[in-house]
Amino acid sequence: MKKFDAIIIGAGPAGCACGLTLAKSGLDTLIVERGKFAGAKNMWGGAFYGPSLYEFFPDFWKEAPVERYIVRHKYSLLTEDAALSFDFTTKKYRKPPYNGFSVLRARFDRWFAAKVEQAGAVVATGLEAEDLLWEGSAVAGIKAGGDELPAHAVVACDGVNSILAEKAGLRGKISPRDIKQGVKEVIQLPRPLIEQRFNLRGEEGIAWEFIGTFSRGVPGGAFIYTNKESLSIGIVVQLSTLTEKRVSANDLLEDFKHHPEVENLLADGQLVEYSAHLVPVGGKAMMPSLYADGMLVAGDAAGLTLTTGLVLEGANFAIASGKAAAETVIRAKKTGDFSKRSLAHYPELLEKSYILEDLKTFENAPLLLENPRFYSHYPEMACELAEKIFTNDGKQRKKIWKMFRETQKSKISLWQMLRDLFRIKRSI
Ligand SMILES: Cc1cc2nc3c(=O)[nH]c(=O)nc-3n(C[C@H](O)[C@H](O)[C@H](O)COP(=O)(O)OP(=O)(O)OC[C@H]3O[C@@H](n4cnc5c(N)ncnc54)[C@H](O)[C@@H]3O)c2cc1C
Repeated sequence: MKKFDAIIIGAGPAGCACGLTLAKSGLDTLIVERGKFAGAKNMWGGAFYGPSLYEFFPDFWKEAPVERYIVRHKYSLLTEDAALSFDFTTKKYRKPPYNGFSVLRARFDRWFAAKVEQAGAVVATGLEAEDLLWEGSAVAGIKAGGDELPAHAVVACDGVNSILAEKAGLRGKISPRDIKQGVKEVIQLPRPLIEQRFNLRGEEGIAWEFIGTFSRGVPGGAFIYTNKESLSIGIVVQLSTLTEKRVSANDLLEDFKHHPEVENLLADGQLVEYSAHLVPVGGKAMMPSLYADGMLVAGDAAGLTLTTGLVLEGANFAIASGKAAAETVIRAKKTGDFSKRSLAHYPELLEKSYILEDLKTFENAPLLLENPRFYSHYPEMACELAEKIFTNDGKQRKKIWKMFRETQKSKISLWQMLRDLFRIKRSI
């Protein structure tokens, strides 16, 4: 059996970026993907921020199957019957290179994998990597579909559950505290209705995030992203608290969908797709060892996502880390040394890129976001205060500060609030 320079497990964003970089450098590269086609089994919320892909395709939005470019970012605090929102848009987001896009994985991953094939790599779909091959203590390939496939380097880009990183001893079982459960629906809606309801024109789109009482105190939030002729709507909530509270993510999604603010947006829509997936959110603290003799780990398999409370980004981290893993393998090929010592170049590259810096900057965010008050007390307080300010009940008005103090005292002590503010300042 021929020996590949590199075998990549998984044709998600990390695997495709790795495969493309290796193939462009002329390395003999195989990607194995268990889905029938790249993207067949994959899901995400769908807000994709471009810079890491611009390095491969400077005008990628012209050829890639993106849905809309995001011109509005909106955040809402929800209580059972009220919503308080802020909405940001700028002319700059309406011009190329666009800041972000809404994207559907099944189409996007397929396009990306085709680019990898065009560059010369083999993408074997419908093939699951079951185990690793070993030469002494070094990884020397994989076992897949009953065959042994030898390689100088194996790059695990197999997502959050990375069985192969576990088998290589690079990480143990992930704590449910470091994982969020995502459930998502794609709701078909005629284009004119989407544009009218979300105040959009042409190819413009919105990324709208929500937190509030619909998550019943489970840390996490919900999202709506507009596609050309559909909405991606879902929630992402902490797995350990779901288990503790014995609620299902699906129930929370239903609560969210029936909030009056959301129900109006979905009216007359038709459910066309349902999916569920886990996302690693533990940040720097959950990062496994990133390399071993003959092996590297990238993307979600390495826990490389960023959650700040305002954004959840994983795709760009996956692409940038997949590329860095490939550059490490290219360097190793030149020296003929695929040992752990040689592959130690990989974390050095990650250190130089924004990846590890961002994770370091927001290393306290995962703990901050476990604070249950963000999902109940604060949305309630904010909506109650807004209601007091805007309701005209014919009575004498109070000063806004007085209204604030009354509302705040009924929800939370000033001392507790100041402590939370201090934690926010320290974390994000
Ligand atoms: C609900 C939700 C919402 C999200 N929203 C966003 C968002 O809006 N923006 C954003 O940037 N990120 C978002 N993310 C995170 C983002 O999806 C991930 O960070 C990103 O997909 C990671 O890419 P990856 O290539 O590392 O892994 P994945 O995308 O998980 O790809 C792994 C691939 O490996 C394959 N595979 C797994 N095991 C094997 C095996 N043994 N053999 C062969 N193939 C295998 C899988 O089929 C898959 O194709 C979200 C995630 C979730 C769950």
